[in-house]
Amino acid sequence: MSAPQPLSQTNVAVIGAGPAGLQAANLVAQAGLTVVVLEGRDRVGGRLLSLSVEDGSLDLGATWFWPNEPLINELVTIEQLPTFSQHLHGDTVFQGENGTERVPGNRLDVPSGRLVAGTQSIADALAVRLAGDTVKLEQVVTSVRVERDAVLVTTNNASWLAQQLIIAVPPATALATIDFDGQLPSEVAHLAKSTPVWMGNIVKVVAHYQEPFWRNAGLAGAGFSYRGPLREIHDMSGPNGAPAALFGFSQPGAGNPTPSKKTIIDQLVELFGPAAADPLNLFIHDWRDEPLTSPQAVHGLDDYSTYGNPMFCQPVLDGRAHWASTETATTAPGHIEGALQAGTRAANAAVNQIRSR
Ligand SMILES: Cc1cc2nc3c(=O)[nH]c(=O)nc-3n(C[C@H](O)[C@H](O)[C@H](O)COP(=O)(O)OP(=O)(O)OC[C@H]3O[C@@H](n4cnc5c(N)ncnc54)[C@H](O)[C@@H]3O)c2cc1C
Repeated sequence: MSAPQPLSQTNVAVIGAGPAGLQAANLVAQAGLTVVVLEGRDRVGGRLLSLSVEDGSLDLGATWFWPNEPLINELVTIEQLPTFSQHLHGDTVFQGENGTERVPGNRLDVPSGRLVAGTQSIADALAVRLAGDTVKLEQVVTSVRVERDAVLVTTNNASWLAQQLIIAVPPATALATIDFDGQLPSEVAHLAKSTPVWMGNIVKVVAHYQEPFWRNAGLAGAGFSYRGPLREIHDMSGPNGAPAALFGFSQPGAGNPTPSKKTIIDQLVELFGPAAADPLNLFIHDWRDEPLTSPQAVHGLDDYSTYGNPMFCQPVLDGRAHWASTETATTAPGHIEGALQAGTRAANAAVNQIRSR
């Protein structure tokens, strides 16, 4: 028989330390309630993943935020996170079936904001605001059970009894990783299982160079292709061009392999010239290989009309659990902004439930 797991109590348990879960936890704590954030990975941020290189930070997850997104703009302002504007100037390159051409102006990028330390710094800032022991890393939640007047949340090595639960995990990922003991209404379980994980089937490629050589040739670093492996490419350099980087998205399709280094470099050379042949680093991050973002069961999902479905705004498990990932947001679903919006909605709902019971 296995040893009994330690059991702790809290007003609110949050599953997931991405921007949605961390935003929710902060609002619950501000309301004067106790909160714990259970995160399966050994880091906070989820799909915000920034890597330090010798001359700055590079994003392997989210990159941009936009001027019409109030929550994230307010957050970076309050936290005084250093930002800069996405580089836009220059021409676009287009790779058609029969060759490559240069198209005047930047046809791909729109004005957007960037974080000097990468987007993971948003999650770090939200986590630092919380009391020291709030976020529990390497706690993969495996089961959730309603027990009379509470929810029992069990991880790989501990359990929490919470009055309210916030599920800040993409719904399909939650259904694939957590046993809900059949307690979700069948139409909600069906909706959750069929809701794609935003960017969950994407390979993000970042080519880090000594300098942004394409800018000297009057190119914006923007490219699009009918041939691939990268379908769209952007300048992802830091402020004043350092670190110098191009990034591209590839969508190989469920079951197909990650594009090889050679096919990627060949494509970058065809589009941007011989200087593209020799990056300092080439990062190929296949998000399909991250089971806490994109388990096998979600790889083929592609009906995005389920985003922000009204059912995601209703509590489940006898009014004790609330959806909070970006996929459940009613504004900017898919974006960091959507995660902050959904986390806010879920936190308010959980706090109101506790106050009204
Ligand atoms: C390649 C890429 C590029 C992107 N580009 C942009 C962009 O430019 N701008 C933009 O606004 N957005 C972008 N996004 C989307 C953005 O990253 C997401 O909107 C945001 O991270 C969603 O936050 P979230 O908290 O809802 O989910 P997540 O960030 O996915 O966080 C969920 C957390 O839950 C944890 N978790 C999952 N299952 C369990 C479990 N069973 N137990 C415990 N923990 C669990 C995960 O480890 C994770 O930390 C991009 C995403 C990717 C992958």
